[in-house]
Amino acid sequence: MYASVNLVKSTNTKMESKKLKYKKLDGISEKQLSEHHDVLYVGYVNKVAAIDKALKSVNLEGVNATFSDLRELKIEETFAVNGVKLHEAYFDNLGGNGLPSGKITELIKRDFGSIDSWKKEFMACGLAARGWVVLAFDLDTKKLRNVVCDLHNQGGVWNCVSLLVLDVYEHAYFIDFATARAKYIDVFMKNIDWADVNSRLKKFKVE
Ligand code: FE
Repeated sequence: MYASVNLVKSTNTKMESKKLKYKKLDGISEKQLSEHHDVLYVGYVNKVAAIDKALKSVNLEGVNATFSDLRELKIEETFAVNGVKLHEAYFDNLGGNGLPSGKITELIKRDFGSIDSWKKEFMACGLAARGWVVLAFDLDTKKLRNVVCDLHNQGGVWNCVSLLVLDVYEHAYFIDFATARAKYIDVFMKNIDWADVNSRLKKFKVE
């Protein structure tokens, strides 16, 4: 799953750790929660800060896709940032009574037929996933979807809307450019339709 538009509930844009709104949950102990939140989640927040700091002085020359400091930092940035966003959404969407209510119930019934059939698939996805299951709203189809995600960074960057997309898989350039990826990227840049990029801003109401 390489969806680039994924909605999870996260309002933390500064990547400072958010406090838990409860100490324990019905059936989940304080110890379990504090290890998960105070150690693991806060660890991701700290790593985002460390990566941001390292990116300020990273060498942009001689970058390549096998190993370069920029590559390693950017790969782990997606892992850490998505780790923060997904955990915040997870912790925030707990602490209630578990009874579906409000507008989301209408959307679930519309897109899955019934709350029960959504729940059945969502819970089965919990067994099929290696990392996360997200009930997500697809901004293109305007429909709900249960999304399975094996790693924090195998789902794009959560809550981001794709505005400009560059494909650097070899299939996109190898016939014309062989191994000269930089040349292909130059050509890509010269061919961008910025009007289309701007239309995406409009489409997704991004300001
Ligand atoms: Fe976790």
